[in-house]
Amino acid sequence: MRRWNGWGDDAKIHPLPQAASQYLERIIGEADSVPDASFEQVLSAVPTSRLATHPLVSTNAAERLLHARGQSLPDWIALRSGNIGVYPDGVAYPTNDEEVRSLIKYAGETDTFLIPYGGGTSVVGHINPLPGDQPTLTVDMSRLNKLIKLDEIDQTATFEAGITGPSLEEELRTHGYILGHFPQSWEFSTLGGWIATRSSGQQSYYYGRVEDFFAGGHLETPIGPLDLPPLPASAAGPDLREMILGSEGRLGIITRATVRIRSTPEVERFYAAFFRDWETGVNAVRAVAQSDLPLSMLRLSNPQETETTLVLAGRERLVSLAERGLRLLGYGDEPCMLIYGLTGYRGILAITKWRTGTLLRSHGGLLVGKIVGEMWRKSRFYTPYLRNTLWERGYAVDTLETAIPWASVLTTAEAVIAALRDGLMDLEERTLVFAHLSHIYRDGASIYVTFIFRRARDPAETLHRWQKLKSAASEIIVAHGGTISHQHGVGTDHAPYLAVEKGEVGMSMLEAVQQKLDPQGLLNPGKLLR
Ligand SMILES: Cc1cc2nc3c(=O)[nH]c(=O)nc-3n(C[C@H](O)[C@H](O)[C@H](O)COP(=O)(O)OP(=O)(O)OC[C@H]3O[C@@H](n4cnc5c(N)ncnc54)[C@H](O)[C@@H]3O)c2cc1C
Repeated sequence: MRRWNGWGDDAKIHPLPQAASQYLERIIGEADSVPDASFEQVLSAVPTSRLATHPLVSTNAAERLLHARGQSLPDWIALRSGNIGVYPDGVAYPTNDEEVRSLIKYAGETDTFLIPYGGGTSVVGHINPLPGDQPTLTVDMSRLNKLIKLDEIDQTATFEAGITGPSLEEELRTHGYILGHFPQSWEFSTLGGWIATRSSGQQSYYYGRVEDFFAGGHLETPIGPLDLPPLPASAAGPDLREMILGSEGRLGIITRATVRIRSTPEVERFYAAFFRDWETGVNAVRAVAQSDLPLSMLRLSNPQETETTLVLAGRERLVSLAERGLRLLGYGDEPCMLIYGLTGYRGILAITKWRTGTLLRSHGGLLVGKIVGEMWRKSRFYTPYLRNTLWERGYAVDTLETAIPWASVLTTAEAVIAALRDGLMDLEERTLVFAHLSHIYRDGASIYVTFIFRRARDPAETLHRWQKLKSAASEIIVAHGGTISHQHGVGTDHAPYLAVEKGEVGMSMLEAVQQKLDPQGLLNPGKLLR
């Protein structure tokens, strides 16, 4: 069963190795484990619904609680403490376009806000109802979860938008195809959510970001249905598909989408290499990114993340062997780990592996083969479960990310890390910060930063600590010219920074489209646009 106040499946537990526990105590300090509110306690605080009855709408308190918050750290603080405050007034589970249309009509007639809800894995406040007098209805897309059509000539597949990552890939796998979109939230996030947030999967280098595979689809908007024909390309004016990507539930409810698929690759391998320091590693991955080699992933950890990853892996003997080996070879002081993936045909892979290895070596890389890469592959969707364990031990974890041209990658990463590392010093609290380049492009990279700090006994104080860190890092990102989000989207948490990237005219273009499609302002208010 899905955990109601944390990440993932209740049955999966990621233990914290003893060495990792000591490591955190050494860097951040010993933490207090503050007990969480129980489901029953929180349930008893859910207020009466303000919604008028509708055959598709449930006002059941448990369902409203389960749809009240996403996966951001403020969401966790609210859920774990039981201080949720605002709940949707109801939840509907439409099963076709007509039902979606009838919910939009009902919302218009009763002045009800609508929140399209995919897997609820948003980390920036996308699916949270806002306080106010108007009721809110969450539209859970989970029953729109079928494969509608597989076109083997075009290699496209049309799915209903509420389908999750595993179900979608399972449908394709039985026909010998793959989409290959693997965000770390893959287990629970949905096709509609990926489109609405401009999501990026771990192997987007090969399989593409969502804008590369989103071929077309269908939306229900307050002013009528919108069809986006699945054309391979179009010069017929601005591409409306680009408007829908990243629309965060503000422009309509995506009910189905056609995606570009490909044959299941013959081989997929993950390898690791080490560099003596971060700068050398960054220059090496830039060289690979600009060499046109058909890799599927390049993920370069900074020294702190390399150390933390090895400690958290819990394979103490292997790790100490690796550390000794690296030291012996002169890679011991600030080693940076690169995981790189190769996907495709066996023959092409052999050449790519050889050419990548040569390039990495010429840039100071030490190739260490498959073991570490395999470890990464096995834990790729398991790592987020550690957030639950850390929370229970008294530590709060969050991540943030940006993308920026190569010239600014090192300086921006350094400044963001420093802002987070020193951000709680005035409170006499320490933060563990580590980073990696998660998606690599010819002209730049995305920087993905994780930060861990101690929770306070008072949830409001924990939230205050998070706010200080998040705003310090966000300001640094935009001041350096980075995007406020490479993959998580805008939601509420990034909305104050959006205008820096879009500019005044850009913001009015977005607002005009939103107002045209949703004149009553019913769809997901306060997200993306304030
Ligand atoms: C542990 C963890 C790891 C993550 N890793 C990644 C990652 O690797 N890459 C990445 O890109 N993101 C990642 N995320 C963020 C999140 O998973 C993505 O933003 C994802 O795309 C959200 O999908 P969802 O179905 O859960 O959408 P939700 O969280 O339910 O909704 C997100 C937004 O999309 C809108 N929406 C959802 N469905 C529809 C629809 N059918 N029509 C219109 N609007 C809709 C909602 O209104 C909301 O504004 C991660 C999150 C977590 C918690």
